[in-house]
Amino acid sequence: MKIYNSLTNKKETFKTVNPKKLNMYVCGPTVYNYIHIGNARPVVFFDVVKRYFLYKGYEVNYVVNITDVDDKIILESEKLGISEKELTTIFTDAYIRDITNLNALLPNKMPRATSYITEMIFYINKLIEKGYAYHNNDVYFRVSKIDEYGQLSNQVLEDLQVGARIEENSDKENPLDFTLWKQTSVGISFDSPWGKGRPGWHTECACMNKAIFDEVIDIHGGGSDLKFPHHENEIAQSRAISNHPLANYWMHVGRLDMDNVKMSKSLGNIVLVKDLLKEYEYQAFRLLILSHHYRQPIGYSKILMDQFNNEWQRIKRALKQAFVEMSVKYYEKVEYDLDQVSRFEKALEDDFNIANGLTVIYELVKTMNREEDVSLKAKAYYTAILLLDILGINLEQKRLTDEQIKDYHAWVIARNEKRYQDADEIRLRLNEAGIL
Ligand SMILES: [Zn+2]
Repeated sequence: MKIYNSLTNKKETFKTVNPKKLNMYVCGPTVYNYIHIGNARPVVFFDVVKRYFLYKGYEVNYVVNITDVDDKIILESEKLGISEKELTTIFTDAYIRDITNLNALLPNKMPRATSYITEMIFYINKLIEKGYAYHNNDVYFRVSKIDEYGQLSNQVLEDLQVGARIEENSDKENPLDFTLWKQTSVGISFDSPWGKGRPGWHTECACMNKAIFDEVIDIHGGGSDLKFPHHENEIAQSRAISNHPLANYWMHVGRLDMDNVKMSKSLGNIVLVKDLLKEYEYQAFRLLILSHHYRQPIGYSKILMDQFNNEWQRIKRALKQAFVEMSVKYYEKVEYDLDQVSRFEKALEDDFNIANGLTVIYELVKTMNREEDVSLKAKAYYTAILLLDILGINLEQKRLTDEQIKDYHAWVIARNEKRYQDADEIRLRLNEAGIL
């Protein structure tokens, strides 16, 4: 398997630290509102990564953090007149509901930042002891101590220094230094050796990685917009504490823009996942996401969504028709087209080129539609079902009852005898049962 590593800017042969075991961490949501379809893109992509490794027999430990302490959370809970805890509980539940409705397998662990405050204080203290951080009202990380700083985002420290805004905040030794612990008088806060306050977001991820995995992990992922400063700062802290860049492979998912404009609340061009799923089946949305290479941006539009909805309906129709035919012919042998399976695997093992993998699915659809021989049709069907499952695209189908099979045959006969009224009546019944 080859994976493009953002840290080295190279497609590299992928090897896990422990054989047949994958440790993966992806930055999760700040839970103060509903997620939009741009947030859903990494959810869908990394779900496929997880599913693929499971399919290949790996033990997968997939962690997504929940940021439940943040300025935006404090502001929003003040606005709504509820506590931070109430607000973050509502939107953590909403997040889990949304990703479940997108048919994403739940991560193995979803640690909340507020459950790791003790660990974070300990972590920051260690950074101070080692000389990588200093306390001056707030606590800051000393960026100049990390030679590799800027590697992930392809920036050189000197250029960053020149470009850095000279802030009015003179507590920092260097404008690039970032906050590890912030003193606060508003909203939720925690006791610490540096006064009441809360941890910075970059520390949250770095510290929870250490607390949960305690070794270099295999994959750290997130949206491409997190490369700088968030992931750069996670790496800097990990180098300081553990002397490794936190993960051996860094994977970044491209943006999803609305009609090529960045989605933002103020522009009002946001589509929430929960709203999208009122109009479309999740499978259609997954197809849209996965038809684009994960590192490329997606210019989302309603037209594009409709187009992929049509694609999904076409796939669904072929699967349903093949299934009905297998049912009415009592064909029960499960076989796979191993050539197509291996073509699909090859595509995914080339830096998750899922779009190439989907061409296999479309060929199988063609076979299902064209092939008269039920055994060949069934083979294409079971292969498609197997491969679609890796993409998190499922279709529930119930075996037809004997009554329905009788109906089906009666429908075919009525059609052949041109008794259209009878045929229509039966078709309606089969339609209502979701068979045709
Ligand atoms: Zn993070």
